[in-house]
Amino acid sequence: MDKMLSLIVPVYNEEEVLQVSFEKMDAEMKKIGYPYEIIYVNDGSRDSSMSILRRIAKDNPQVKVRSFSRNFGHQLAVTCGMDAAKGDALIIIDVDLQDPPEVIEDMVKAWENGADIAYGKRLKRKGETIFKKFTAFCYYRLLKAMSANAIPLDTGDFRLIDRKVADVFLKMREHNRFLRGMSGWMGFEAVPVEYVRNERYAGKTKYTLKKMLKLAMDGIIGFSDRPLTLCTGFGAATLAIAGLGLVALIVLACCAAHFPAWLWAIDGVVALQAMTFLFLGIQGSYMNRMYDELKARPLYIVAEDLNLE
Ligand code: UDP
Ligand code: MG
Repeated sequence: MDKMLSLIVPVYNEEEVLQVSFEKMDAEMKKIGYPYEIIYVNDGSRDSSMSILRRIAKDNPQVKVRSFSRNFGHQLAVTCGMDAAKGDALIIIDVDLQDPPEVIEDMVKAWENGADIAYGKRLKRKGETIFKKFTAFCYYRLLKAMSANAIPLDTGDFRLIDRKVADVFLKMREHNRFLRGMSGWMGFEAVPVEYVRNERYAGKTKYTLKKMLKLAMDGIIGFSDRPLTLCTGFGAATLAIAGLGLVALIVLACCAAHFPAWLWAIDGVVALQAMTFLFLGIQGSYMNRMYDELKARPLYIVAEDLNLE
């Protein structure tokens, strides 16, 4: 039987773009040729997005819609789309046409050639503020430096994932989700598909600064233990310095050299402070392990089995 594709499109107050976006994406999916479904997840829109979706779904059986009771945020809307998808490959794309639908064909080709994940890598971002470009540039690099697993640079959620990757996503039910980090953590055969990110077709960004900061924090906190354990090294280094200071003071005292007595007190304060940092870091390591248990991610992920039932 022919393989099927699922297109997952999160929607939040997008009445200006929905109709055009549907026409372009639908035409692209028809061109690619596989049977397909388009799953819109209405993330609590307060404009007429839902009535537009009702109309589109009425005339197009390939269109499926799930509507949230309120705004849960983009990452959860995409997760909901993944839960509902039936396809052999899932494609996650923004509704505002910033992710060009033409790129889907390249992603599908990469998938046909064996890729499990074909992720869109932004060569350029058009029509975005210098502030957004600069903060995104710095953030992706900071995240890469802080996290143990490879999270590709300049990559958003626009990607194709094979069914086996989607099934792992279904098992990962952590609440504060950072999908591109989860995808990087999983591994698999991931290939970049380069593209130029367009301007928004119409309307304004729905990612407020607050939502962006939350996402940025989810990326760091979910995929790096550095913030919790950072002070261990600092505490150890400071304690070593205080230890050297103590040795120096003892030598001076033994040589009957004159030095101010408050140097003893200073050394003691530095040593105590260092120990506080050290133990904070050690506590952090315990918290980190508890956090890992709570996230309850799969222990390992199998990409292929040979001669196993
Ligand atoms: N979106 C969503 N819920 C939100 C915010 C955004 O479902 O709370 C959707 C939005 O409709 C779009 C995608 O997520 O399809 C990306 O949002 P947007 O284009 O506003 O973000 P930007 O491209 O400016 O980062
Ligand atoms: Mg956008």
